[in-house]
Amino acid sequence: MTTGEIVSFEPATGAELWRRPCGDANEEVGIARANWAAWASQPLAVRIEAMRRFANVVRQRSDAFTDLLARETGKPVWEAKTEVDTVIAKVDISVTAYSERTAQRRLDSPMGSRMALRHKPHGVLAVLGPYNFPAHLPNGHIVPALLAGNAVVFKPSEKTPATGAFMVDCYHAAGIPEGVVRVLIGGPNEGKALAAHPDIDGLLFTGSARTGIALNRAFADKPEKILALEMGGNNPILVWDTPDLHTAAVLIVQSAFTTAGQRCTAARRLIVDQKLYDPLIETLNKLIGRIIVGEPHDNPAPFMGPVIDNESADMLTESFLELMMRGGRPIRHMERPIENRPFLLPGLIDTTEMNDRPDIELFGPILQVIRAATFEGAIAEANNTRYGLSSSLISQNPALYDTFWANIRAGIVNWNRPTNGASSAAPFGGIGWSGNHRPSAYYAADYCAYPVVSNEADAARATIGVGLRDG
Ligand code: NAD
Repeated sequence: MTTGEIVSFEPATGAELWRRPCGDANEEVGIARANWAAWASQPLAVRIEAMRRFANVVRQRSDAFTDLLARETGKPVWEAKTEVDTVIAKVDISVTAYSERTAQRRLDSPMGSRMALRHKPHGVLAVLGPYNFPAHLPNGHIVPALLAGNAVVFKPSEKTPATGAFMVDCYHAAGIPEGVVRVLIGGPNEGKALAAHPDIDGLLFTGSARTGIALNRAFADKPEKILALEMGGNNPILVWDTPDLHTAAVLIVQSAFTTAGQRCTAARRLIVDQKLYDPLIETLNKLIGRIIVGEPHDNPAPFMGPVIDNESADMLTESFLELMMRGGRPIRHMERPIENRPFLLPGLIDTTEMNDRPDIELFGPILQVIRAATFEGAIAEANNTRYGLSSSLISQNPALYDTFWANIRAGIVNWNRPTNGASSAAPFGGIGWSGNHRPSAYYAADYCAYPVVSNEADAARATIGVGLRDG
């Protein structure tokens, strides 16, 4: 609940990091609306130049940015650094994507006229960001939106507002006009006010399916506004016919527990050939036991930090117990090593015998294990979800990968790679409850501008050949 002020706490220590009063959606949208036309009328080269300056500012401030991001999310410094690097890399990727997806083109045209395909920005776009990648993911909407000539009002997650505000300072320091990219501090109430504002032309959202579906409903009678939803997943990783169980275990750990399981692409369900079950689980369990869970700046560096807050940790602990009560057999309990701090040691639970396995995204370090007797059964189990974001098969058998690729329902289908770690240079999105068919990353250019086709001739020339009386 928003109380008029947003306070950000470091998950690892509980220390207060930052506080600021909530902003006013109406005011921010008004400022953006007053400024977007001047920005849109700049030549593209000017906007590209501004975005390149932004990349340079982030480069110069990289250490401070990394430190803040690590403190505010609790993720290890090494991981926060990769997120800052991704923010920088986004600029070149978006410039390429703009030119390949939405640049001007000349089309064939009859009768000596010419046909031009160009793209126009929508106007003012609202961006709502999640807490797990509080810089990279909103930036993945903001950079393409600004390049295309939109103004942006960005509301960071109430759990990571400092990172959001820091990033917006970087846009301004790079010379992108303050009126063109605005930060709106607040929680769900400010998010709702922004989404409902009549003067936005669209909303670019990354967050949970619950919020995304509520937004989809709120936009049902607003077909004139663009709505791009990037939501969660209940992602499967399959292990079948593979000789190297240690490597399989490494890929599973990377998939399920990087970022303390707080990735939309994290593996939530391990589906394994029952013949490999015993040796694989033994190897996996040993590897999980070696995972260092610690504070962002710890030395030696941790593999993962805490989850975002105590409320999330409580919810995840309860979910683990709920899985047990419904018939799940714990292989490794999810422990909470420090009372009142949101550190969690990864949990592993066999839910094969559970009849009514809930199809929900448990956004933390919990991995369910399901044994399967046939490969077809394993794929059916993998597809047994309303979501469809990411998936992976670990196998030495190319024929199995062909079958997997052909039958699995997801926007990311990997082979002998983790379910996560998607490239920003490729389209990113899923089906089902994972999005609304407006993929982001490389395809973000598509939802930041609309196509305009013009049939043009230098002089007016026209005749009507049939259907006229002699005059
Ligand atoms: P969330 O849905 O709780 O919040 C996302 C944003 O929406 C926040 O800024 C929040 O303040 C705002 N918000 C919340 N309720 C709102 C409402 N009713 N109206 C308007 N705005 C509202 O998500 P989160 O917990 O911050 O992030 C984690 C979720 O994000 C996970 O489900 C994860 O899978 C998903 N995610 C998806 C992707 C992707 O690209 N597909 C990437 C990262 C995270």
